[in-house]
Amino acid sequence: MNMNSEQLKFHEPSGKLDEGFKVRGEGYIEKFEEKYAEQEAESEQPVGGDIDFNKLLEELEGEQYLAKTGAAEIVEQIQKIKGKEGFSPEIFKDILVKILQRMQNECGDLGSLAVLEEAWKLCDFEKSARKYPEDHILHNGAYDFTNGKILISAREEEFTALMTIMALAVSGSDHKINVLHHENIHAKQYGPPTLRNIIKTRFERLFRKEKTILTETQSMVSANSRNSREIQSLRDLYEKLKQFTVPDEVINTRPFNKKGGGYNVIISDRAVDYLIVGHQEVRQLYALGLDDAVIADLVKNARWNKKNGVFNTLHNAIEELRDARGLESEDMENLVLKDILERKIVLYKAQRIAREEIDKVVDQLDE
Ligand SMILES: [Zn+2]
Repeated sequence: MNMNSEQLKFHEPSGKLDEGFKVRGEGYIEKFEEKYAEQEAESEQPVGGDIDFNKLLEELEGEQYLAKTGAAEIVEQIQKIKGKEGFSPEIFKDILVKILQRMQNECGDLGSLAVLEEAWKLCDFEKSARKYPEDHILHNGAYDFTNGKILISAREEEFTALMTIMALAVSGSDHKINVLHHENIHAKQYGPPTLRNIIKTRFERLFRKEKTILTETQSMVSANSRNSREIQSLRDLYEKLKQFTVPDEVINTRPFNKKGGGYNVIISDRAVDYLIVGHQEVRQLYALGLDDAVIADLVKNARWNKKNGVFNTLHNAIEELRDARGLESEDMENLVLKDILERKIVLYKAQRIAREEIDKVVDQLDE
């Protein structure tokens, strides 16, 4: 293929963003957000399927009320635990285990925390420290598909029970673990670093931008779906992806670009199509109950169907699951909304549980 460097130059879609969103999405975001706001404001009776949105919204409000924020108070409680005679850091491990047990029982899902062990095995902390010489408060990560390793700006010693407890108590999730979760999904999407997979991924990153966008979409949406506030809406996803585009530079073929990360995405109007459709499809698959690995496999084998404007494997899987359950497309929208609400609830719940477990230990100290 003869590549014209001029064509490959990044072009800022300035002003075209909204236009681009409207073209393909028919105001998809607006529709989505409107519908969501409607549900929230009017607390309507169940729409489509058997979803009781009333009940979900009540639960969300209740948990939101109980999940107090404010790090100072938590630090104070932690200091009390540390100041106790005979204190050992082991106590934080015990607290974390209790929190995780309760999360599993009361939320039914550990979210990103569930993949920590698996993702940890792929981490290269030495290389990470070289790639990210300065520590970042908001952690970054990268997946190197050429060797199957995850790089993260967090230091190995930051992964402590105490740090995770505090993160959960403040926000319901631990951002650096969400980053690992994100990269771990990439590991599943690209498969092991065999020569075949490396060549395939390189090719797709160069010539199939839609695949890069789709892989990012799954990783980003998933982190939100499961215990993180990373991506709240399609617009956030777009903004996030745009941050990682390669500015005024021909796309590089190296696995990572020092300036912009390894995304190699040029956001054009057509890329916005991929983003909207990919987002919709990935959201629906998660709402239908598929897990990271299964969706990653669909993503791995996905091709953009130009004629129908869908990602073939994802689209087929949705249709199949939808038909098997006798759901209409309107039910799908409700299912996605339900999924989003439930995941918000989980975040607040996790926050409350972490607080309660810290408080319990402090109360015992006072006795
Ligand atoms: Zn990514």
